[in-house]
Amino acid sequence: MGSRLVVVGGGAAGMSAASAARRTDPALEIVVLEASGYAAYGLCGIPYYLAGSVTSADDLVAYPPTFFRDRRRIDLRLHTSVSHIDPERRHVTVSQDGHERRLGYGSLIVTTGGRPVRPPLPGLDDERVFTIRTLEDAISLRCLLDAGRVGSVLVVGGGYIGLEMAEALAERGAAVTVVEAENQVMPNLDSPVAALVEQEVRRRGVDLRLRTMLHGAERIGDQLAVRVGTQRLVVDAVVLATGVRAASSLAADVGAKTDDTGALLVDSAMRTSLPDVFAAGDCVAPHHRVLGRPAFVPLGPAANKMGRVAGIAAAGGSATFPGVVGTAVVKVFDLAVARTGLTLAEALAEGLPAVATDALGKSRAKYYPGSGPVHVRLVHTNDGRLLGAQVVGVGDGVAKRIDVVAVALQAGLSVADLVAADLSYAPPYAPVYEPVLLAAQAADALATQPDSPVAA
Ligand SMILES: Cc1cc2nc3c(=O)[nH]c(=O)nc-3n(C[C@H](O)[C@H](O)[C@H](O)COP(=O)(O)OP(=O)(O)OC[C@H]3O[C@@H](n4cnc5c(N)ncnc54)[C@H](O)[C@@H]3O)c2cc1C
Repeated sequence: MGSRLVVVGGGAAGMSAASAARRTDPALEIVVLEASGYAAYGLCGIPYYLAGSVTSADDLVAYPPTFFRDRRRIDLRLHTSVSHIDPERRHVTVSQDGHERRLGYGSLIVTTGGRPVRPPLPGLDDERVFTIRTLEDAISLRCLLDAGRVGSVLVVGGGYIGLEMAEALAERGAAVTVVEAENQVMPNLDSPVAALVEQEVRRRGVDLRLRTMLHGAERIGDQLAVRVGTQRLVVDAVVLATGVRAASSLAADVGAKTDDTGALLVDSAMRTSLPDVFAAGDCVAPHHRVLGRPAFVPLGPAANKMGRVAGIAAAGGSATFPGVVGTAVVKVFDLAVARTGLTLAEALAEGLPAVATDALGKSRAKYYPGSGPVHVRLVHTNDGRLLGAQVVGVGDGVAKRIDVVAVALQAGLSVADLVAADLSYAPPYAPVYEPVLLAAQAADALATQPDSPVAA
């Protein structure tokens, strides 16, 4: 079995791993085992598929299975799940078409992704209660939407996936209620920034209920009666967006080390603590460059990069993954909402002497059509160490702006370095006083006058 590489999972990390392994070793036997009927598709495109702006589920598939089989000589097996790893005998137990058998490996890459959290509440096993983690989940919900059978929907969870779902369903004409247990939407933002997102969600007609829990659901004919807070609502469907955990049990159950969230721990070449078993993607807690320790930050670009490194390393090449800084952007109706590094709340929870500086700028020159507000929050220490940023505003420029800070964090730049950054300017793209630089100047002023009041 020495030369067979087995990859468990055909998502972003798994197919990147298999493709990188093929480039590294043209002779290696590579088998990818994928439980669902799809591989190599854009999970991140699901909200737009549900909204209808992406017409067909097939449009989300980056390459068809035949591409991997014929062009890359990767033996991709769909509807094939792995139920057990035997790290001593180096084989996995595979279920396909109701039959179980063993498949040996020389090296193994676990890319089993994330699993949605399902609250243990009555009635949530109903077919009208959806989690959105696979294309098959999305296809079932889209069928109901296309049949005109979702006039009202409850979204449970006001994180980024919950809000993406709220937007998609509202675009399909559904009356959307979102319940969120915390007192803000997007708990991974600082509350003043989350308040801007909340305003937008309410402005767009979503019935948003904060500090409100789902208690259960009950089927009534074609509908569901749900108990939320002290009220009872009747809706056509429920979407659970109550968080994601690493789907790590396959490797963790046979001894692979995990962090306290249950995500697999790996070295810089994506090796787990099991011999010749690598892991990549959402099932892993990679090194976080600002925290200086592993952290569970399940996002697409990191999954692809980790997969590539795992594939090269598992095929005998040399590659390392330097870690993440936790950069993400999401569209919430007309707002782009982005973060990188640590929020103020996260930095303080780490015991860092952090403060936050906020600046309000414009997306373009104020006289140029389409210019709108851009709010930037920089998180830093009083002596000028950059720790993170959040940016909320209109237009495509928000993603570009967070990426500037992400690169600054990765390079270990200070607030003063950011002030000096030579960023581009033209009226259609940015104001001459770029909002990120406005925030950096204000933060730098704090660092150079440390006794001045702290902007929190
Ligand atoms: C609705 C939605 C929107 C998102 N939007 C964004 C975004 O805009 N930006 C962003 O950065 N990230 C986004 N993400 C997160 C991003 O999609 C993930 O970080 C990324 O898909 C992780 O890739 P992965 O390969 O680790 O896991 P996955 O893509 O989940 O792939 C894991 C695969 O493993 C398979 N599998 C699991 N267990 C087994 C088993 N035992 N045997 C065989 N196969 C198995 C699963 O079927 C699955 O196909 C979004 C996620 C969702 C759900």
